[in-house]
Parts: sequence; structure tokens; C-alpha cells
Amino acid sequence: MTPDQLPPLRDVIAQHDLGAKKTFGQHFLLDLNLTAKIARLAGDMSDKHAIEIGPGPGGLTRAILAEGARHLTLVEKDPRFLPALAEVGAAYPGQLDIVEGDALEVDETRFMPAGQSVILSNLPYNVGTHLMIKWLESDPIWWTRAVLMFQREVADRIVARVGEKAYGRLAILSQSRASVRLALKVTARAFTPPPKVESAVIVVDPLPADQRFEDLKALEAVTASAFGQRRKILRRSLAQAAHQASTPVDSLIEAAGLDPSARAETIDIEGFQALARAWRAARG
Ligand code: SAM
Repeated sequence: MTPDQLPPLRDVIAQHDLGAKKTFGQHFLLDLNLTAKIARLAGDMSDKHAIEIGPGPGGLTRAILAEGARHLTLVEKDPRFLPALAEVGAAYPGQLDIVEGDALEVDETRFMPAGQSVILSNLPYNVGTHLMIKWLESDPIWWTRAVLMFQREVADRIVARVGEKAYGRLAILSQSRASVRLALKVTARAFTPPPKVESAVIVVDPLPADQRFEDLKALEAVTASAFGQRRKILRRSLAQAAHQASTPVDSLIEAAGLDPSARAETIDIEGFQALARAWRAARG
């Protein structure tokens, strides 16, 4: 079989009885123009090993291969899709590997070459942010770019800047390790079946190693505390983080050089990084 002989996606879905399952967050992309656009956001893949999470019936999978990825590994949790994906593999001999499993539990570094890997995914919404944090936490970061579909509201929270309504934990954690941009807005109608919310594709590029904030665990602790009560001033909202570090809240804020009467949403990313360093220094 050659790529041109692959049956249309709708036929694949009908033949293999691949009705979307809500429990796996399944909404399929069947529009070939759109899947090509998403795959192109990964840049030149001719020297890259790509990984796609949650390929489903394989629309984006086909686009990644058609756009020239040197090699592609798929991670899919729902075994119903495997025969249809194997057909795609037959059209691209030697280029496609399929891993059946939960992407949250897979150790990608076992098969993805560091510095030559790109991630693409129309993510299941319920696991999307967990996966992104997992990839951002990897040390060293093994991927050079991630192209990820999120529900629009989550994408907005990832790319938000200080002062914007969506600014919070997700923006601070993501932008401390990577530069992020919203690349494509996608309407609910583009999916089969359409989800209840709009979506967007973001492009995530890891920052150069010497600019990445190293201690995401500390950053998670201080942002969880500060944004857990985002309307309160820092002296109050950081009580939990100060308690965890066994230090008075005022000392923590002073060590970070911040104003105790400011609110979390007005503190920029560098401010939170200073707070994370002070928290780590106090906690050890
Ligand atoms: N990529 C396909 C497309 O664009 O048409 C399907 C997208 S659908 C939103 C999400 C896919 O992720 C489904 O195929 C689902 O079975 C799979 N999935 C859900 N949770 C997963 C997990 N934890 N690990 C791997 N795949 C998962």
C-alpha cells in the first residue's frame, strides 16, 4: 500500500467501527487542510523523530508523515485504533512505531533521541496539561518543539502575560521553561463529534538550557499557594507556602524582594522565580 491508497478517514472509522468514546476525550480531526496546517507548525521534520500522543483514527498521523517526518512514534491508549494505525504504518514502511499505552506513564526518553525530537498532539483535554508539565519537567528536555491542541481557555492560560485575566500558574510554569505562542484557533465544528468548547494549537519551544528555570517543584509550590487565593494579598495567600518551608511569610516575601501587599496576578514571572528560590532556600 502507498500513502495515496489509504482509504478516506471516514471510511476507516466506519470499517473499524471507531465511534468516538467520551471517556477517552475523543474528538477527531478529519479535515486534511487543517491537519496539514498543524503538522507544518512543527517546522522541517526531515531530520526529526516525531511523537504523536493520542493518534485516534490517524488524521494528524497521516499529515505528520506526509509533511516528511523522518520517523514517527505513536502513543495510543485505546486499542480499538491499532489496526487502522497499522494500515498507515504499512503505507510508510519502517517509519512508524506504535506504542499502546497511557502517555502519562510512558518514558519517552527510552525511544526518543534527545535534541532531535518533536511532539505533536491533539490532546485529550483531561490529560493535556499534565502531559505538558511532564514534558516541561523533563531534565534535560529531550524535545525541541511541541505542537499541542488545547481547549481555547487552557491555551489562553498557557500563553498569558502578567496583567492579563488568564495569567496564573500555567503561564508561569510553562514560560519558565519554554517560549510559547498561540499559533492557530480551531472552531468546535472542525472536530467530529464537535466538543462543547473552542480549541487552539500552541507551539512550545524550550528555552536555551541556561535560561530555563531549574526548580519547577518550588515554582509549583509557591504558585499553588499564591493563586489558590488569587484575590488575597501575598502576605495572606502565601501563608501555605511559608508554612511548608517553615519560615515566616514576611521573610519569604522579603527574600524574594516583593511587596507583601501585592496580589499574585500582578507579580511577573521573574518575581515568582525569585519567590521559588527563596522558598527552596528556606525549605532546603
Ligand atoms: N489525534 C486524533 C485526531 O486528531 O483526530 C484523535 C484526537 S482525540 C481528541 C484524543 C486521542 O487521545 C484519542 O485517540 C484517545 O484514545 C487518546 N488518549 C486519551 N487519553 C490518552 C492517554 N492517557 N494516553 C494516550 N492516548 C490517550
